[in-house]
Amino acid sequence: MHTEESQPRPLGAAFCDVPVRLRALILCVDAGAIALAAVMVARDHPTAVTWRYATVLLVLAVLFEETSRRIGRMRLLVGGDGALQDMTSVWTFAGALILPAGYAALFAAVIAVHAWLRQQRDVGQLLYRRIYTAATVMLACMAAGPLVAVDLQWDTGLLSLASLLRVLGALLIYTAVNRLLISAAIVLTGAPPSARALIGTWDDNGLEFATLCLGFMTAVVVVGQPLLGVIVLLPVVLLQRAALVKQLETAASTDAKTQLLNPLAWRQRAQRELELSRVGHIALLVLDLDSFKAVNDLHGHLVGDAALLATSVRITGELRTGDIVGRFGGEEFVVLLPGLNAEGAMAVADRLRLRIGGVRLCDLGATHQDDSPCEHTLSTSIGVAVFPDNGAGLTALLAEADKALYAAKDAGRNTVVLAEPRPSSASGEERVG
Ligand code: GH3
Ligand code: MG
Ligand code: MG
Repeated sequence: MHTEESQPRPLGAAFCDVPVRLRALILCVDAGAIALAAVMVARDHPTAVTWRYATVLLVLAVLFEETSRRIGRMRLLVGGDGALQDMTSVWTFAGALILPAGYAALFAAVIAVHAWLRQQRDVGQLLYRRIYTAATVMLACMAAGPLVAVDLQWDTGLLSLASLLRVLGALLIYTAVNRLLISAAIVLTGAPPSARALIGTWDDNGLEFATLCLGFMTAVVVVGQPLLGVIVLLPVVLLQRAALVKQLETAASTDAKTQLLNPLAWRQRAQRELELSRVGHIALLVLDLDSFKAVNDLHGHLVGDAALLATSVRITGELRTGDIVGRFGGEEFVVLLPGLNAEGAMAVADRLRLRIGGVRLCDLGATHQDDSPCEHTLSTSIGVAVFPDNGAGLTALLAEADKALYAAKDAGRNTVVLAEPRPSSASGEERVG
């Protein structure tokens, strides 16, 4: 499975605008994939069986691509700012399993060209990124294939436990090579990499695993019963549809600039958390970047947007998986911390303040001439409210945290303020918003 992640600025850039080290990586990987494939093709000796497998796989891949063009197109459009799983790995992984390594890479290249011509170029995908993705797939095929090529008795109809373990190994190698090269490109963009971009979510990984398993099933069918190959098309189409639904769900609840929850989704998640946890404390932080208008005015909105993304990465990097983070407004973020009392919440808030204070604008592309942008760092003020001390419902807690935030601004900014305990607050109150 090929995973592409768009960071708002650098990955959307034209080839000549991406950082030099990323350009170097792209050229090395592209050239390496082509050179290695050429060497392996020259070394491999294809038989009639090789050509038969390749033809059946190609027919299936083209049939799939042509019958699911509308869904594929929608996925490309919706998935512009998120991880995008490409179903073509069903065919390329099957190729890696049953074709000689060089021919599996060649097959992956042919499929990539077809997908580009029939679909991707129409929706404005960048050619150098598609070539890089194709090169990573070619390398993944050549790395994974040799593990199964050795004494795997596909055509006996019986796969031994050892054979299945080899297939699993090939699956892991295929995924690892792909992930590593895509992650390297993301890191080299210079934009702060999010955990989601590098290791993917459970859903992303589950979809990737399902796609590669379908690739394995396709390989078994192509070897044993090629005429039944069309049967595997149905589950691939269904998986493609499920992936689209998931992408639409994610897009509806995600803030496009920061990849955090949007206000509505954050409210729903936070409300549910307040209703579910009936004992203990829950803390709420409201963060507002200081003098952010000046950041835009001095360095431009692109730097401002990169600062918002860098802030979101720093916030999520400091928190646990159960904490709920959202972008509430322009430069305002909200965090719900289940299980934390006032003391714990103040410690986390101060950690966040320091981490965000470490974001240097020159690392985000700021090049203001009259000043040294490297001395400019972000700073944030944070208001903290805690259930049950400051209120029982989400709306009350938000109001109290907001008041504390204003107190932090009045105190000179770059500071954390805890809301005053309300004498009337009681833990027995209903937790409604
Ligand atoms: P304070 O310390 O009082 O919070 O000052 P501030 O300048 O941060 O506050 P103000 O509310 O005056 O300005 C918020 C700025 O945030 C104004 C707006 O241009 C900027 N902003 C809001 N949304 C975005 C966005 O999506 N991208 C960028 N680049 N800027 C944004
Ligand atoms: Mg604000
Ligand atoms: Mg502000």
